[in-house]
Amino acid sequence: MNGNNILLVEDEPHIARGLIFNLEEEGFKVTHAENGEAALQFFDEHSFGLVVLDLALPGIDGLEVCRQIRGKDPRQPILMLTARSEERDRIEGLSAGADDYLTKPFSLDEFLLRVRGILRRSEWYRPEPASEDIHQFGKNRVDLQHHLATTAQGDISLTELEVRMLRTFFDQEGEVLSRAHLLESVWGMAPDTETRTLDNFIVRMRKYFEDNPARPVHFQTVRGRGYRFSRKS
Ligand code: CA
Repeated sequence: MNGNNILLVEDEPHIARGLIFNLEEEGFKVTHAENGEAALQFFDEHSFGLVVLDLALPGIDGLEVCRQIRGKDPRQPILMLTARSEERDRIEGLSAGADDYLTKPFSLDEFLLRVRGILRRSEWYRPEPASEDIHQFGKNRVDLQHHLATTAQGDISLTELEVRMLRTFFDQEGEVLSRAHLLESVWGMAPDTETRTLDNFIVRMRKYFEDNPARPVHFQTVRGRGYRFSRKS
Protein backbone atom coordinates (compact mmCIF):
# COMPACT_ATOMS: atom_id res chain seq x y z
CA MET A 1 0.00 0.00 0.00
CA ASN A 2 1.41 3.35 -1.00
CA GLY A 3 0.22 5.94 1.52
CA ASN A 4 0.90 8.86 -0.76
CA ASN A 5 -1.17 7.61 -3.69
CA ILE A 6 -4.85 8.42 -3.73
CA LEU A 7 -7.43 6.99 -6.07
CA LEU A 8 -10.18 9.57 -6.62
CA VAL A 9 -13.40 8.20 -8.09
CA GLU A 10 -15.57 11.16 -9.05
CA ASP A 11 -17.61 11.73 -12.20
CA GLU A 12 -18.32 15.45 -11.77
CA PRO A 13 -15.42 17.27 -13.47
CA HIS A 14 -15.52 20.48 -11.42
CA ILE A 15 -15.52 18.62 -8.10
CA ALA A 16 -12.77 16.28 -9.28
CA ARG A 17 -10.63 19.22 -10.41
CA GLY A 18 -10.92 20.99 -7.04
CA LEU A 19 -10.09 17.84 -5.06
CA ILE A 20 -7.16 16.88 -7.28
CA PHE A 21 -5.72 20.38 -7.08
CA ASN A 22 -5.89 20.46 -3.29
CA LEU A 23 -4.63 16.91 -2.76
CA GLU A 24 -1.66 17.59 -5.02
CA GLU A 25 -0.96 20.79 -3.11
CA GLU A 26 -0.74 18.59 -0.01
CA GLY A 27 1.83 16.39 -1.71
CA PHE A 28 -0.42 13.48 -2.66
CA LYS A 29 -0.25 11.75 -6.02
CA VAL A 30 -3.78 11.45 -7.40
CA THR A 31 -5.13 8.93 -9.88
CA HIS A 32 -8.52 10.01 -11.18
CA ALA A 33 -11.22 7.57 -12.28
CA GLU A 34 -14.42 9.00 -13.78
CA ASN A 35 -16.49 5.87 -13.26
CA GLY A 36 -16.62 2.65 -11.31
CA GLU A 37 -15.24 0.42 -14.04
CA ALA A 38 -12.13 2.58 -14.42
CA ALA A 39 -11.76 2.73 -10.64
CA LEU A 40 -11.74 -1.06 -10.29
CA GLN A 41 -9.25 -1.37 -13.10
CA PHE A 42 -6.89 1.19 -11.52
CA PHE A 43 -7.33 -0.58 -8.20
CA ASP A 44 -6.23 -3.89 -9.70
CA GLU A 45 -3.17 -2.36 -11.31
CA HIS A 46 -1.87 -0.03 -8.61
CA SER A 47 -1.79 0.28 -4.86
CA PHE A 48 -3.33 3.23 -3.04
CA GLY A 49 -3.10 4.59 0.47
CA LEU A 50 -6.67 5.82 0.18
CA VAL A 51 -9.64 5.52 -2.15
CA VAL A 52 -11.93 8.59 -2.25
CA LEU A 53 -15.14 7.26 -3.69
CA ASP A 54 -18.20 9.16 -4.89
CA LEU A 55 -21.43 7.28 -4.11
CA ALA A 56 -23.42 8.37 -7.18
CA LEU A 57 -21.54 7.26 -10.28
CA PRO A 58 -22.71 6.35 -13.78
CA GLY A 59 -22.59 2.60 -14.41
CA ILE A 60 -21.38 0.65 -11.37
CA ASP A 61 -22.28 2.85 -8.39
CA GLY A 62 -20.05 3.74 -5.47
CA LEU A 63 -21.57 1.15 -3.13
CA GLU A 64 -20.78 -1.65 -5.54
CA VAL A 65 -17.27 -0.31 -6.17
CA CYS A 66 -16.79 -0.17 -2.41
CA ARG A 67 -17.96 -3.76 -1.93
CA GLN A 68 -15.70 -5.01 -4.70
CA ILE A 69 -12.65 -3.18 -3.35
CA ARG A 70 -13.41 -4.54 0.14
CA GLY A 71 -13.62 -8.02 -1.33
CA LYS A 72 -10.15 -7.62 -2.83
CA ASP A 73 -8.51 -5.90 0.15
CA PRO A 74 -10.23 -5.75 3.54
CA ARG A 75 -7.67 -3.20 4.78
CA GLN A 76 -7.94 -0.65 1.98
CA PRO A 77 -8.91 2.74 3.50
CA ILE A 78 -11.98 4.18 1.74
CA LEU A 79 -13.56 7.62 2.15
CA MET A 80 -17.02 7.81 0.61
CA LEU A 81 -18.50 11.02 -0.77
CA THR A 82 -22.25 11.31 -0.90
CA ALA A 83 -24.49 14.04 -2.23
CA ARG A 84 -27.34 12.94 -0.04
CA SER A 85 -27.39 13.37 3.66
CA GLU A 86 -29.98 10.70 4.36
CA GLU A 87 -28.93 8.34 7.06
CA ARG A 88 -29.79 5.37 4.86
CA ASP A 89 -27.03 6.32 2.42
CA ARG A 90 -24.56 6.80 5.20
CA ILE A 91 -25.41 3.42 6.73
CA GLU A 92 -25.31 1.72 3.32
CA GLY A 93 -21.92 3.25 2.61
CA LEU A 94 -20.49 2.23 5.93
CA SER A 95 -21.91 -1.28 5.70
CA ALA A 96 -20.47 -1.63 2.19
CA GLY A 97 -17.13 -1.09 3.88
CA ALA A 98 -16.32 2.64 3.74
CA ASP A 99 -14.13 3.81 6.64
CA ASP A 100 -15.60 7.27 6.70
CA TYR A 101 -17.92 9.44 4.63
CA LEU A 102 -18.44 13.08 3.75
CA THR A 103 -21.70 14.65 2.63
CA LYS A 104 -21.57 17.08 -0.27
CA PRO A 105 -21.21 19.99 -0.22
CA PHE A 106 -18.20 19.91 2.08
CA SER A 107 -15.37 22.35 2.58
CA LEU A 108 -11.92 21.50 1.30
CA ASP A 109 -10.55 21.91 4.81
CA GLU A 110 -12.97 19.31 6.09
CA PHE A 111 -12.11 17.01 3.19
CA LEU A 112 -8.37 17.24 3.84
CA LEU A 113 -8.94 16.67 7.56
CA ARG A 114 -10.82 13.44 6.84
CA VAL A 115 -8.18 12.30 4.35
CA ARG A 116 -5.39 12.84 6.84
CA GLY A 117 -7.43 11.23 9.63
CA ILE A 118 -8.06 8.04 7.68
CA LEU A 119 -4.45 7.82 6.56
CA ARG A 120 -3.21 8.30 10.11
CA ARG A 121 -5.51 5.60 11.46
CA SER A 122 -4.54 3.16 8.73
CA GLU A 123 -0.92 3.80 9.64
CA TRP A 124 -1.64 2.86 13.26
CA TYR A 125 -3.47 -0.29 12.30
CA ARG A 126 -0.90 -1.45 9.81
CA PRO A 127 0.51 -4.73 11.06
CA GLU A 128 4.20 -5.39 11.41
CA PRO A 129 5.72 -7.00 8.33
CA ALA A 130 4.87 -10.68 8.56
CA SER A 131 8.45 -11.89 8.22
CA GLU A 132 9.49 -10.09 11.40
CA ASP A 133 6.69 -11.69 13.36
CA ILE A 134 7.44 -15.34 12.65
CA HIS A 135 9.74 -16.98 15.17
CA GLN A 136 11.11 -20.48 15.12
CA PHE A 137 12.80 -22.34 17.92
CA GLY A 138 12.99 -26.02 18.80
CA LYS A 139 9.98 -27.74 17.27
CA ASN A 140 7.97 -24.54 17.48
CA ARG A 141 6.86 -21.93 15.02
CA VAL A 142 5.21 -18.83 16.46
CA ASP A 143 3.30 -16.34 14.34
CA LEU A 144 2.79 -13.32 16.59
CA GLN A 145 0.82 -11.37 14.03
CA HIS A 146 -1.87 -14.04 13.83
CA HIS A 147 -1.58 -15.19 17.46
CA LEU A 148 -0.78 -18.71 16.34
CA ALA A 149 1.77 -21.23 17.51
CA THR A 150 2.54 -24.55 15.94
CA THR A 151 4.18 -26.82 18.47
CA ALA A 152 5.00 -30.50 18.92
CA GLN A 153 1.57 -30.80 20.57
CA GLY A 154 -0.31 -29.17 17.71
CA ASP A 155 -1.65 -25.71 17.00
CA ILE A 156 -2.26 -23.29 19.83
CA SER A 157 -4.02 -19.97 19.57
CA LEU A 158 -2.28 -17.41 21.74
CA THR A 159 -3.88 -14.77 23.93
CA GLU A 160 -2.94 -11.11 23.67
CA LEU A 161 -0.89 -11.35 26.88
CA GLU A 162 0.92 -14.46 25.69
CA VAL A 163 1.79 -12.66 22.46
CA ARG A 164 3.09 -9.69 24.43
CA MET A 165 5.19 -11.90 26.67
CA LEU A 166 6.61 -13.86 23.73
CA ARG A 167 7.42 -10.65 21.88
CA THR A 168 9.26 -9.34 24.94
CA PHE A 169 11.33 -12.52 25.14
CA PHE A 170 12.01 -12.69 21.38
CA ASP A 171 13.08 -9.04 21.24
CA GLN A 172 15.55 -9.55 24.03
CA GLU A 173 16.77 -13.05 23.34
CA GLY A 174 19.69 -14.12 25.51
CA GLU A 175 19.18 -11.35 28.03
CA VAL A 176 18.08 -11.97 31.60
CA LEU A 177 14.72 -10.29 32.07
CA SER A 178 13.83 -9.49 35.64
CA ARG A 179 10.37 -10.20 37.00
CA ALA A 180 9.88 -6.45 37.36
CA HIS A 181 10.80 -5.85 33.73
CA LEU A 182 8.44 -8.58 32.49
CA LEU A 183 5.58 -7.41 34.68
CA GLU A 184 5.99 -3.90 33.39
CA SER A 185 6.39 -4.65 29.69
CA VAL A 186 3.75 -7.39 29.47
CA TRP A 187 1.15 -6.30 32.01
CA GLY A 188 2.03 -2.67 32.44
CA MET A 189 2.14 -3.25 36.19
CA ALA A 190 4.22 -1.32 38.65
CA PRO A 191 7.44 -3.30 39.11
CA ASP A 192 6.88 -3.85 42.82
CA THR A 193 3.54 -5.59 42.31
CA GLU A 194 3.57 -9.00 43.91
CA THR A 195 2.00 -11.56 41.61
CA ARG A 196 1.94 -15.23 40.76
CA THR A 197 0.57 -14.45 37.32
CA LEU A 198 4.00 -14.18 35.80
CA ASP A 199 5.09 -17.55 37.14
CA ASN A 200 1.92 -19.13 35.84
CA PHE A 201 2.63 -17.68 32.41
CA ILE A 202 6.14 -19.06 32.40
CA VAL A 203 4.78 -22.48 33.38
CA ARG A 204 2.37 -22.27 30.47
CA MET A 205 5.08 -21.20 27.98
CA ARG A 206 7.12 -24.24 29.03
CA LYS A 207 4.14 -26.55 28.65
CA TYR A 208 3.54 -25.20 25.15
CA PHE A 209 7.07 -25.00 23.86
CA GLU A 210 9.47 -27.17 25.82
CA ASP A 211 10.19 -30.83 25.04
CA ASN A 212 10.48 -31.38 28.77
CA PRO A 213 8.79 -28.59 30.75
CA ALA A 214 10.58 -29.75 33.91
CA ARG A 215 13.96 -29.13 32.24
CA PRO A 216 13.38 -26.01 30.15
CA VAL A 217 15.93 -24.98 27.53
CA HIS A 218 14.05 -22.10 25.87
CA PHE A 219 12.41 -20.39 28.83
CA GLN A 220 15.14 -20.63 31.45
CA THR A 221 15.04 -19.54 35.06
CA VAL A 222 18.06 -17.52 36.14
CA ARG A 223 18.02 -17.93 39.90
CA GLY A 224 17.51 -14.76 41.82
CA ARG A 225 17.50 -12.66 38.66
CA GLY A 226 14.60 -13.59 36.40
CA TYR A 227 14.09 -15.41 33.12
CA ARG A 228 15.99 -15.78 29.87
CA PHE A 229 14.80 -16.90 26.45
CA SER A 230 16.98 -18.89 24.07
CA ARG A 231 16.16 -20.22 20.61
CA LYS A 232 18.77 -22.94 20.89
CA SER A 233 17.73 -26.44 21.84
CA1 CA B 1 -21.41 11.74 -8.77
